[in-house]
Amino acid sequence: MDYLSIASLQVSYVHDNQITPALRDLSLSLAIESTGVIIGPSGCGKSTLLGVLAGLNQNYQGTVRINGKAPGECDETALILQEYGLLPWKTTWDNVKLGLELRGFSKQETVLRTEKILDKLGLLHLRKRYPVQLSGGQRQRVAIARSLVLEPELLLMDEPFSSLDALTREELQDFLIELWQETKLTILLITHNIEEAVFLGQKIFVMSECPGTIIKEYTNPLAGDYSARGKMEFLELANSLRSSLRGWN
Ligand code: ADP
Repeated sequence: MDYLSIASLQVSYVHDNQITPALRDLSLSLAIESTGVIIGPSGCGKSTLLGVLAGLNQNYQGTVRINGKAPGECDETALILQEYGLLPWKTTWDNVKLGLELRGFSKQETVLRTEKILDKLGLLHLRKRYPVQLSGGQRQRVAIARSLVLEPELLLMDEPFSSLDALTREELQDFLIELWQETKLTILLITHNIEEAVFLGQKIFVMSECPGTIIKEYTNPLAGDYSARGKMEFLELANSLRSSLRGWN
């Protein structure tokens, strides 16, 4: 059974008495413990899709199942946004433990889990710093730690690395792959970046212009292979994706 399955999803927004369709007849599926990447033009409905999957928007038609449950009934999902979403007045430690406190974990369990995840992500030495005292890459790692401390099964990421410089971006892509290999989370990530899609997505879904639907799906054996970045097959897949995005094939 697919861990994530979406069938004939439709979402429309109503604004000034006008209906704007954002997603139309969108279907996709993702196996458990795999990675999927969605790529598409700006404004095609990618964030709308993640909003539905995260349970933030329940105003949709069609069927969405995460591990057999509707998104609103599912507390195994974590969403990571582009702007990190860290509270500026809280330290790394306090930002990371927040979700545990909100869920009513005991003080002892909260400390144990926070320490473990910060250690795992190489952030323990930054535990007393505030977000403004961290680099962009470090901030994004803290945001990831804050989600992972809740031990989700599905990690949703909305352009998580887009504001980082090219080198930091590659480092965090490598880091995400290591994390995935270790935890076997199911990951669905949105990106504008073609090379990122090829490096991270075992499945790559190409979306159309708005209202968005999936126009092409790739199964990608190169995902997570560090040495693949410079290989001919990598460049060929990147070129094919580029053509799909431009509507050439
Ligand atoms: P993407 O993430 O791919 O850039 P979005 O999901 O943000 O796209 O938006 C998809 C479409 O829905 C766009 O045409 C956008 O203008 C519209 N849209 C998004 N949010 C709203 C809203 N709250 N009200 C009205 N229209 C919206």
